[in-house]
Amino acid sequence: MKCNAECASPNTPAPVVGAVIVCAGKSERSGLAYNKVLYRIGCKTALETVLDVFARTPVSKTAVVSSAADEDNIRDLVSPYRNVTVVTGGSTRAESVLNGLKACPCDIVVIHDGARPFVSPEILINSIISAEKYGSGIAAVKSIDTPKRVNRNGVMTAIPRDGLYNAQTPQTFRYSEIMSAYSSVDYGACTDDAEVYELGGFTPRLVEGAYDNTKITTAADLIKAVPRSCRIGVGFDVHRLVPGRKLVLGGIEIPFEKGLLGHSDADVLVHAIMDALLSAASLPDIGVLFPDTDERYLDVRSTELLKNVLGRITEKWQIDSVSAVVCAERPKLAHVIPKMRDNLAEIMNVARDRINISATTTEKLGIIGSGDGIASDAVCLLSEKSI
Ligand code: MG
Repeated sequence: MKCNAECASPNTPAPVVGAVIVCAGKSERSGLAYNKVLYRIGCKTALETVLDVFARTPVSKTAVVSSAADEDNIRDLVSPYRNVTVVTGGSTRAESVLNGLKACPCDIVVIHDGARPFVSPEILINSIISAEKYGSGIAAVKSIDTPKRVNRNGVMTAIPRDGLYNAQTPQTFRYSEIMSAYSSVDYGACTDDAEVYELGGFTPRLVEGAYDNTKITTAADLIKAVPRSCRIGVGFDVHRLVPGRKLVLGGIEIPFEKGLLGHSDADVLVHAIMDALLSAASLPDIGVLFPDTDERYLDVRSTELLKNVLGRITEKWQIDSVSAVVCAERPKLAHVIPKMRDNLAEIMNVARDRINISATTTEKLGIIGSGDGIASDAVCLLSEKSI
């Protein structure tokens, strides 16, 4: 066993830390017609996301290993990044890593998959510190599932889970040691760099990885990788208060000497909420959908219109929250707000704590303050149900 446990003295200059990012895979299991490191996660590709995380670590030079077919694309993509070179891969992952290592001489080298974009700077830095101190730092997480060995006839044999870990990348090494290992062993059957290192006579050492530091491999991984799109909507409405009308707010009839004037029941709170929902979903507002010239909507309960709006948005969107404020000098609304929330939560089929309503006055200012009308503002947050 070769010694790899020497610690750097405090007077030693800081080691040069390089990185090899492997992007030369065929991406066959992902179902994509192109290299999965070019898959967009939000506004950036997986590879750019990885490079952005590396930029927050001591890594000062990087070799990105690409297949010959993707080299032009990947060269364009990495051109804004400093000290990043593109190297042609080999016919196996191990050969690709070796090509990257040769192109990136340094003291400590981080080897990472280009399709593992959720790595954190902390894991990278911990693996570098471990490699400086012990010679290597291999990110790994404790096995959660119970592993079994299965023979050709489907017969299972238990494997004790105690002490079992799943290795990830980054896998970080003293450059001289991993180069020595790659130069001296038959790495053809090795499935990761820690195995090559171990075969070379060195001792791979664990650093804690993370369960979300996953590698994009299958089509399902691609779907999980894309953050759900969220949209905010805003709505506002005001109606005049007049005698001889029922006052309906949030679908609840409130005893009062006046009611709101309108073509429908003039439920100003539900109108603001509907416009917020429609706005978030980029749909036309209620004035367009339910015009006051249409006899079908004469005296209609606004909660019925709300059900119509929900029918338009809920196939694509999930309602994450609605927050509204009713602005009225009179009547006082605090006691009726819980009923409004219950009613709207039931109609919208969302948890009660996702519907919030507050009430305020305008300190007797303006048409609201004079008691001539009631206004309402609403905002909502929708999230896309699937990509
Ligand atoms: Mg209205």
